[in-house]
Amino acid sequence: MSGSVVVVGSVNLDVSVTVDRLPAPGETLLGGTVRRSGGGKGANQAVAAARAGSARTAMVGAVGDDPEGAALRASLESDGIDCSCLRTSAAPTGTALITVDRSGENTIVVAAGANDDVRLDEASTALVRSADVVLAQLEIPQQTVLAAARARRAGAILVLNAAPYAAVDPELLAAVDLLVVNEHEALGLSAASTVDEAVPALLASVPAVLVTLGAAGARLDRRGGATTVVPAPRVEAVDTTGAGDTFCGVLGAAIARGDDDLTALRHAAAAASVAVEGKGAQDAVPSAAQARERALAAYGLGEADLRG
Ligand code: ATP
Repeated sequence: MSGSVVVVGSVNLDVSVTVDRLPAPGETLLGGTVRRSGGGKGANQAVAAARAGSARTAMVGAVGDDPEGAALRASLESDGIDCSCLRTSAAPTGTALITVDRSGENTIVVAAGANDDVRLDEASTALVRSADVVLAQLEIPQQTVLAAARARRAGAILVLNAAPYAAVDPELLAAVDLLVVNEHEALGLSAASTVDEAVPALLASVPAVLVTLGAAGARLDRRGGATTVVPAPRVEAVDTTGAGDTFCGVLGAAIARGDDDLTALRHAAAAASVAVEGKGAQDAVPSAAQARERALAAYGLGEADLRG
């Protein structure tokens, strides 16, 4: 594989406030200073793939015709991401309202705006067709993700991060090569009560399932194959916003360059552990060098072990 990743997904402005504890329903709390930063699962994962050194990363999505949209586009371009298929829509740029408590736990409400307008046109279909890995999430219409799944060339891998949690169109699920879910999503999609039960249930629909397990790391199961487990490096979590996105983007880049499962998981978990040590989503995504340093230290490896 040549290592190209095309992300089909959302671009949001993240507006976040730190609070001592998350508010209860109906409650008003005083928080810290408001912080505005680049977000959206699609854009976060594109940034993570680009910083992980994917040979080419491109973004298919939409922003509003507003200053936020222009700033988010410029920021993605500054990470070397091809934004030729990031359309400007009549709807406002997507916005996520985030609260983060002292332990790093968060709640997020997303106003989709332009993300609801993401469709595949001729140019974005051609871009998807050029990808080694198509990486998608559920913050844009599932019909668009399905169109991307159909447009990918034979041999390209569709990684679907089924987040935020939603029922997945069976036709889309049938097209997925690798499903990435957190524990909550794994249980929701399988109606199981433990991850051990959820994985075989999900493997009935998709050939491979990766479940991220927060501070416990992640596991990858392939239908009829072995389970690959990776522990998360132990760190002091400051803000877990974007941990899953960092994991998915780095994983996508690793798969696109042909890493084996264990190596890909180590790169992803190492990068995600750095991401939880910093505030914000894209702001906290590490460079390839930072993530590599973490992987070497956390897993007691030599350089050769990270070439999968
Ligand atoms: P989020 O929605 O907060 O971005 P998520 O719920 O999608 O995350 P998680 O399973 O919580 O997904 O985290 C994704 C990955 O990030 C984990 O598999 C792990 O590698 C890493 N991670 C998350 N939390 C921690 C932590 N406290 N310490 C180290 N690594 C972590």
